[in-house]
Amino acid sequence: MKKPLVKPAVAAFEITGRCPLKCRHCRAAAVADGADPLDTAACKALLKGLADYCRCVLIFTGGEPMMRDDIFELVAYSRSIGLRPVMATCGERLDRDAMRRLKDAGLLSFSFSLDGADAASHDAFRQSEGAFELVMKVVKTAKEVGIRFQINTTLTRLNADAMEDIAALAVKLGAACWNPFILVPVGRGEAIRQLLFAPDEYEVVLERLAELKKNAADRPAADLRPAVCPRRTAKKTPECRQNPRLPCGYGICFYQSPRRRADVRLSGAIRGQSGRGRI
Ligand code: SF4
Repeated sequence: MKKPLVKPAVAAFEITGRCPLKCRHCRAAAVADGADPLDTAACKALLKGLADYCRCVLIFTGGEPMMRDDIFELVAYSRSIGLRPVMATCGERLDRDAMRRLKDAGLLSFSFSLDGADAASHDAFRQSEGAFELVMKVVKTAKEVGIRFQINTTLTRLNADAMEDIAALAVKLGAACWNPFILVPVGRGEAIRQLLFAPDEYEVVLERLAELKKNAADRPAADLRPAVCPRRTAKKTPECRQNPRLPCGYGICFYQSPRRRADVRLSGAIRGQSGRGRI
């Protein structure tokens, strides 16, 4: 018997390829300048097609979503048609006024990234001086404005030793969730394959994550959700087995928009295209 189709619980929409940062692992290989592939009307058409199919969480991502002047309009539109908009951002252009406007437009949450527990390590990985301080600033503003935020971390051989410190910092900052990813060598990440974990290192990282998750249960202020655990190199942790939504690819779809198209993928880290969005 044919299995019923699983509709996505989360969709990510890459609305721009522009970003002022130059992170070493950037999946999108974002650059500072360039034209956005889809105009406002095309973005809205894609959002409508998605909302007609399912009312899922919609991650505005890129590049840096705040580089688009129509971001407030797109957030408001997505909320008005029943999607649940959130944003992955480096903090650029996110002053108090912008955050209030996003909140009024219906944005539910931000994800900010921390790839180190201090400015030196984070800024080096992001290849942008001041990136860590920017996250500290927008975290403070998000709390003042009253928008939920989570902290994402890409784990590599560079920062694995600091994993527990980064998790502790996320809790201290008041994040609703700490969301560790494992480096996937796509985009600019292809050039840093040497920072990938070997299978035995991977196992150790997952065991440490499982331990952190267990301890986090005593501190419900911040959840821990491992997000990307490519199955070919690692066994699933007990946590992953209990929650099938944890490993990458399940219940997720990803819209990438090169050259006025809207490719649909199972994950931003998977090259194969699964379909084409309606625009
Ligand atoms: S902040 Fe995000 S989009 Fe910008 S360069 Fe870094 S990983 Fe890429």
